[in-house]
Amino acid sequence: MSAQIGVTGLAVMGANLARNLARNGYTVALHNRSVEKTDTLLAKHGDEGDFLRTETLQELVDSLEKPRRVLIMVKAGKPVDAVVEQLVPLLEEGDIVIDAGNSHYEDTRRREAALAEKGLHFVGVGVSGGEEGALNGPSIMPGGSKKSYEALGPMLEKISAKADGEPCCAWVGTDGAGHFVKMVHNGIEYADMQVIGEAYDLLRSAAGIEPAEQAAIFEEWNQGELSSFLIEITAEVLKHVDAPTGKPFVDVVVDAAGQKGTGRWTVQSALDLGSPVSGIAESVFARGISSQKDQRAIAQETLAGHEAAVEVPENFVEDVRQALYASKLVSYAQGLDMLTSAAKEYGWELKLDEIASLWRAGCIIRAALLKDITAAYKGEDKPANLLFAPAFAESVGAAVPAWRRVVATAVQLGIPVPVFSSSLAYYDSLRRKRLPAAVIQGQRDLFGAHTYQRVDAEGTFHTLWGEDRSEIAAVDTH
Ligand code: NAP
Repeated sequence: MSAQIGVTGLAVMGANLARNLARNGYTVALHNRSVEKTDTLLAKHGDEGDFLRTETLQELVDSLEKPRRVLIMVKAGKPVDAVVEQLVPLLEEGDIVIDAGNSHYEDTRRREAALAEKGLHFVGVGVSGGEEGALNGPSIMPGGSKKSYEALGPMLEKISAKADGEPCCAWVGTDGAGHFVKMVHNGIEYADMQVIGEAYDLLRSAAGIEPAEQAAIFEEWNQGELSSFLIEITAEVLKHVDAPTGKPFVDVVVDAAGQKGTGRWTVQSALDLGSPVSGIAESVFARGISSQKDQRAIAQETLAGHEAAVEVPENFVEDVRQALYASKLVSYAQGLDMLTSAAKEYGWELKLDEIASLWRAGCIIRAALLKDITAAYKGEDKPANLLFAPAFAESVGAAVPAWRRVVATAVQLGIPVPVFSSSLAYYDSLRRKRLPAAVIQGQRDLFGAHTYQRVDAEGTFHTLWGEDRSEIAAVDTH
């Protein structure tokens, strides 16, 4: 018997993907660097489908039908290179190597180019949904060559999550596009989590609503336009009581959140692309400041707050809901805009309707509004920014008064709302007729002769600041 796909790397993600494939009727060859994980998987779940046990990569490769499909699910970074290096000499032209871990898209681009030279397909696949998703249906974002998708796509679509009966898996673009889209998904996830955190803080610190009561509010919000996995689990977290102390769980957890991987990568790439993902960046920085426990302790003792004694607006809970909705939408708009910039930079044909569509189920940012985002990008007339799609221009516009009240109240009370406020600043910056960038251009021309353009004439200009301040036509030095 030969296997249709091989999986190497059988820690939690690889094991669950292998089981998902087997449960869907595929014969799966199993391999792990240390054979114990292979045997543990077979002992616990060997009856879930057809598995082939292998001990070496040679055995794994020999057990596969052609073209061979080898899915690597090892630790991201050097281990992926190590496995690829060992695999390549064992493979034949047309075989497909799949990296479904959280690799950086630049690594994927490099690996794809190197393997293409040897006639092999290297497919970087973004997988979201954690352990549970990997087992029962993740959201899957494959890149790589279109040809490889012919041999791989049907399998991935079969094991993916389904939304309205459609698979949450589609080829997103060549080389590193899959891992890039997954990275931006995670950036949006960071912002989505932070805005929920800010909403919680406002409801608690400004309106005095205790976690258990907030859980009911989040449950109610989950019935409407905010309906999403993250809102749903927030209600669970807020409801949870710490057994030993009887206190709300959120009061016994250290308030320091880590940021190690894809959120940071999103912001680093956004800077390279000149893409203004301010909400995503603020969410990464918010985790950074949360972890500066020592500085926070000093600041609490030494820095003045001068909070104003303002009344919390009437209907504050509804205001916060609307501000949360608007800020969340800005994060999606920024993430999708970053995808548009990346598509231009890397020559990818990213289809935003398909990408939004495959985030509808299986992944962490799954949310009801992704159905409307998909619809916004479906037609011929694609909006240049998600916020310009008529349905969203209207819904966010309607939320603006509440959004301003919430941010103003937070500022007066000294409650930090970095993503609520930066998202509103992004919205206002987009709308503003004149931005202060004209002053910055003047400064740059004065100290560095960087030149500027005029609103009333073609060309590039420089003012002779140190002389008679006359203006000359200049060569653009940007
Ligand atoms: P992991 O802890 O990241 O990696 C452990 C696996 O990598 C083991 O099978 C280990 O083999 C293997 N490995 C490490 N170095 C190796 C090397 N030099 N050569 C060969 N094999 C090596 O596993 P994971 O948590 O299942 O994650 C796998 C990938 O999925 C990662 O890229 C991760 O970021 C991504 N991911 C994880 C989640 C999640 O929720 N955990 C969600 C999405 C994506 P041994 O058993 O022999 O040590």
